[in-house]
Formats: sequence, structure tokens, C-alpha cells
Amino acid sequence: MALTQESVEVLRDRIVKLEADIDRLSKHDALTGLLNRVSFYSVIEEQRVAAFNAHLFDGALVEVMVHGMPKISGTLGRHAGDYVLSALAARLNQSAVPGCVSARMDQSQFAVFFPHVSTHDHAMQLADDVLRELSQPVEWLDRPLSIELAAGVSLLSESGRATVNLIQNAELALESAMLRGSMGRVMFNPEIARSFKRRNEVLYALQGCLEKNELSLRYQPVYDANSGALAGFEALMRMNCRDLGMVSPAEFIPVAESAGMISIFGAWALQEACSAAAHWPPHLTLAVNISPDQFHTGTLVADVKKALVKSGMAPNRLELEITESTLLVNSDNVLEQLKAIYDLGCSIVLDDFGTGYSSLSYLWKFPFSKLKLDKAFIAAMDLTASAKGVAQSIVGLANSLRLKITAEGIESETQAKSLRDLGVHYLQGFYFSPPVTEQDLAPLVLREFSKLYPSQRPSPLQAIA
Ligand code: C2E
Ligand code: MG
Ligand code: MG
Repeated sequence: MALTQESVEVLRDRIVKLEADIDRLSKHDALTGLLNRVSFYSVIEEQRVAAFNAHLFDGALVEVMVHGMPKISGTLGRHAGDYVLSALAARLNQSAVPGCVSARMDQSQFAVFFPHVSTHDHAMQLADDVLRELSQPVEWLDRPLSIELAAGVSLLSESGRATVNLIQNAELALESAMLRGSMGRVMFNPEIARSFKRRNEVLYALQGCLEKNELSLRYQPVYDANSGALAGFEALMRMNCRDLGMVSPAEFIPVAESAGMISIFGAWALQEACSAAAHWPPHLTLAVNISPDQFHTGTLVADVKKALVKSGMAPNRLELEITESTLLVNSDNVLEQLKAIYDLGCSIVLDDFGTGYSSLSYLWKFPFSKLKLDKAFIAAMDLTASAKGVAQSIVGLANSLRLKITAEGIESETQAKSLRDLGVHYLQGFYFSPPVTEQDLAPLVLREFSKLYPSQRPSPLQAIA
């Protein structure tokens, strides 16, 4: 049956409408109605190209991440999460200034492009406006949900006037802001790009480094402050990879942590160190550092057990060093695991005391066997009398709690002497020895025996006695 002119018109209208719908859907985010990432890019790029010849096209990009969306959706349901995101998108629309372009870039990530902005101050002020607007609580079923945000800001003039760089730079600045905590906003600068590039190189190097034998352990000796006898060693991880050479653990451990890889490396370190220590004289202790993240994967207790069983090392020789930050998050769960490790016969040591939070309240929460005074604290004792006074109080407190104290990072005879006079029980630092390889550890252990024979060379501790 032939179509009438009228039905052809109707069909044509429907097709046109359908095409418009498809076009709208492909360019906009279905939930919020904002532009999606691809079309946001196209819109800015079109405007940039149109203005290119006139050299008029300046602008700033503010990218915002809404923290805690998975938590909202997880605890209150997906509808609540969708509602919050829609409410934030509506606020972006309402507060839009003429010419600005908004988008939903990702699950919990929004972006606003502001044309005609060329200075940091102006861009940061706009970012503050966006954060202020979006951070108001969202009402969900008569309950105010608090909104935590981070923002990254970039300028077109500092992005080689390329849209792709503008977006990339704002996203790097946003990552940097997120690392600093909520409600922060960070302006892109080339140092951010350099540090992310380096971070990615380290991350790349970490992948497969165990298989390539690029990870190893060094052992730094710890001495009894009173007798001068060697008391044990602390295992310290090293990465030496083909492309980057030696990378410090202070650099690669945080990268491994943020990439969720630290548990594998931590389990490896436990196994490797226990296997080495099993061959040492049995009175020597072994300390292994444990990252907070190793408590979150839930495999730590099993990893410790496995390392002890496989190596045959006595559990009472193993000390696990944790930092106070470990106890900040989900502390009941952490304390449970610490208790299980303690029940195996191992000791738990509080590392890096005197930096960061240094809350004495943690000392009551768990029967730590030792507390390690951080090297920054030891260095401060050289400079201020008050640091010495605080060290004295810490030693007094530790004694009344029957806690031993190790001073780490000792670099001079004066430091060693004054810490021993203060009553610190163990000493560790470059003044005595740097961390050494497993092969170089043997002479150190032999020197211990030499103390039994006075004709042998004295240890550095005997020198300060
Ligand atoms: P940490 O556990 O507090 O280890 C002490 C750090 O101080 C080590 O740095 C050591 O080489 C350094 N040190 C020792 N004596 C001196 C001294 O006299 N002066 C100075 N300036 N430094 C001294 P390293 O080996 O670079 O390790 C840095 C941090 O990386 C460690 O601090 C620890 O937090 C972490 N780390 C190292 N190995 C591991 C590991 O196997 N697992 C985990 N999770 N973290 C590790
Ligand atoms: Mg340590
Ligand atoms: Mg330390």
C-alpha cells in the first residue's frame, strides 16, 4: 500500500525527532542531562577552533570529584546516589555563568569550563564558587547528606591552548587535590605533571618487579644500648630496576599502596626476611615493616603464619613494625589482627613515634613491646632542648608501661651517648651501620662474637661507653 503524502510527513517528523533524540542521548549524560565527556570535549574544541584566529579564546576548567558516592549508594541505595548526582548537576545548571559549559565527566566527576579566564586568581575564585555551591548538603528523605568535594583547576593559556591538555591538566590537579583530602582545590602546575609522570614510571616498574628479582631486602642492625650487644636487624625493602635504577622505599611503597599492590610485596618481605633470619643466631630479632594497607586485605595474619612455618623461625624473634596511621582507620579490625599476631608469639612495635599524630592514647590500646623514636625527633634533639625534654618524658612513660624504646636514625656519637644516658634501650642508625645486604650481615654478626674475645676490634657502642 502506497503511503499518503500525510503519512510520509508524519514519518519524516518522527525520524527527525528520533534523530534529535539519538543525538541528544549520545551527547548528554542520561541521568543528569549534562554534556558527557566526549561532547564536552567537542564543544570546547569547536569554540576554541572558532576563536583561534582571533587569539581571543582563553578559559579555565574546573573539574570536581564528589567523594563518597559509592558509600552513599552502598548504604542508602542506588536511588539515593542518583538523586545526589542529579541535585548537584541541577545546582551547576542554576549557578551557570553566561558562556560556561558544564559536563558529567565520569561516575562522580563534574567539569565546568569558564571562557575568558586567564589568571590563576580568577580561576581559583571560580573554583571556590563551584565548591561552595555544590558542597551544600543534599536533602534525601528529610535527611541532609553531606557532600565532600575536591577540585582540580587548569588554564587554557597554560595548556598549550589545546583542549586535550586542558582536560588532562585539570584531571592531574584533581588527583593531586584528592591526595590532599576533601574540599581541597589545586591549580595545575608543571610539577604536578612531573610527579605523576614519575609515579606512573614507578608504578610500571613495580609491575613484575618480583618476577624480575628487582626487589630485595637490606638489614640494618639494632644494638642494645646498655651492653652494646647486637640485638637484631630491621628488614628494609629496596627496588633496583632496569629502567629507573635504585628507587627509595619512601617513594615506591606509597605507589604500591595506592595501586593495591603492597600486600603482595609485604607477604614477600615477610617470607624473605624470616627465611634469612632463620639462619641467624637465635637470640637476634627480626623487625619487618607492615603497611596500614596490609591490614585491609585481611591476609596479614595468614601471611605471618605462613612465613613463620615455611622458614621455621621462632615467632618470638619476629617484630612487626606498624605506624600510628595504621590505627586511625577501622581500628577495631586492625586491633583484632594485631591480637591474632600477638597470640602467635610475635611482638608489635610502634614505628616513627614523634612524627605525625603521635597520640599517646594508642599506647593503651594494645600491648606494644617497643616504641621507635623517629629519626626526625632524634635530629630535633640536636637543635632544641625541649625535644630532649620530651624524649625524657617519653622514656619515663615507656618505662612505666614496660615498653622498650629504640632510637632510630642515630648519626653521631653525641646522639648515641645522650640517648643512652636518657635510658633508651636500643639504638639504630648510620652511626652504627647502614642497612646491609644479607651477605654483608655475616661480618656484623661475627663482630658480635668478637666482643667475647677482648683482642677483637671494639664495636662503635663500646667506643661511646
Ligand atoms: P622506617 O621503617 O622508619 O625505616 C627507617 C628508615 O631510616 C630507613 O629508610 C633507613 O634506611 C633510614 N635510616 C636508618 N638509619 C638512618 C640514619 O642514621 N639517618 C637517616 N637519615 N636515615 C636512616 P628506608 O630504608 O629508605 O625506608 C624508608 C621507609 O620505607 C621505612 O621507614 C618504612 O616506613 C618504609 N619501608 C621500608 N621497607 C619496608 C617494607 O618492607 N615494608 C613496608 N611496608 N614499608 C617499608
Ligand atoms: Mg621501621
Ligand atoms: Mg621508623
